[in-house]
Amino acid sequence: MNILIIEDEADIRRTLQELLEINGHSVIAAATGPEGVSLAARRPDLILCDVGLPGLDGFGVITAVQQIPECAAIPFIFLTARAEREAQRQAMALGADDYITKPFTERDILDAIAARVRRQKPLRERIEQLMAERKREASANWSHELLTPLNGVLGGLELLELEGGQVSPGELKELLTLIRGGAERQEKLSRKLIHHYELEQVINAPNRPSSFRCDPVACVNAGATQTATEHHRTADVTVRCEPGLLPLPNRYLTKAVEELVGNALRFSSPGQPVVVTGQRIDQIYRIAISDTGCGMTADQRDHVGPFAQFERKGREQQGLGLGLAIVRNTALIAGGSFTLQDQPHGPGLIASLELPLVPTT
Ligand code: CA
Repeated sequence: MNILIIEDEADIRRTLQELLEINGHSVIAAATGPEGVSLAARRPDLILCDVGLPGLDGFGVITAVQQIPECAAIPFIFLTARAEREAQRQAMALGADDYITKPFTERDILDAIAARVRRQKPLRERIEQLMAERKREASANWSHELLTPLNGVLGGLELLELEGGQVSPGELKELLTLIRGGAERQEKLSRKLIHHYELEQVINAPNRPSSFRCDPVACVNAGATQTATEHHRTADVTVRCEPGLLPLPNRYLTKAVEELVGNALRFSSPGQPVVVTGQRIDQIYRIAISDTGCGMTADQRDHVGPFAQFERKGREQQGLGLGLAIVRNTALIAGGSFTLQDQPHGPGLIASLELPLVPTT
């Protein structure tokens, strides 16, 4: 652990530092309150602070440290020469986690630190996890993802304005096509985002309904046909599904299949087949979407998040990462799993949803 010691008496400071370093901790030390507060900004794992400091005393230090948002959760232990109950009460009232009365033994210090660490660990892990999540979201391509379809709309309108409406019928038609295309992509993306957040809400709801039921044959056919039609690839897509009953709303499964078939079509060229199968395997229903397109790298597969995008150059792939997050969450709601794997022979991918069958009695 990284421990900050704030202690004005050089002997005690040195003794503490040696004791902690011998026990495997790294130490930063301050001789005054203000120095201690500024070192606290380095976010040590724990602060050991003397109460009786000249100038800014220990109570002033803890008050200042707690006003730094990133430091407010750092465990704070007071060292006090005053055995008086009053000082101890004040220390705890100010939010100290513990206090050690001087003179202290080696054991006192190590025990107090160990107790803090035990209690702090779950909270710390949670905070770190939250920070990592926020970082992922922030680094994702929100702006690109959300704004690209609008470029067509705004660009088209701008051209129209520049020309003062004086464009030939042919040019007008071209501009309107550009604007409509952008608006339609934006609408699609917005609907996808709304669906994504709906799934997140279902996942995070305290009482997730378990009464969802759907017919995979209908949903898989609907999702695959709809998407193949949109991509003008109906001849390339074949669907073979066995009957079953799955614990999902119709809409969720249909949308997940749309995403997967859409990806398979985007990653393959016209004429390359996309095969969609639904099979019962014991208590599991496996929906597999198999293509022979350019596939994804292992690294891309590992970074499936709502706003991740792959191989942006050249191809239009807005919402791809979002689509896979939707599929993954759909599997999660059903209590199943989603995997992407390479074709065993040759190029292409197999996307599989393995979902638990609802027993039909
Ligand atoms: Ca002192």
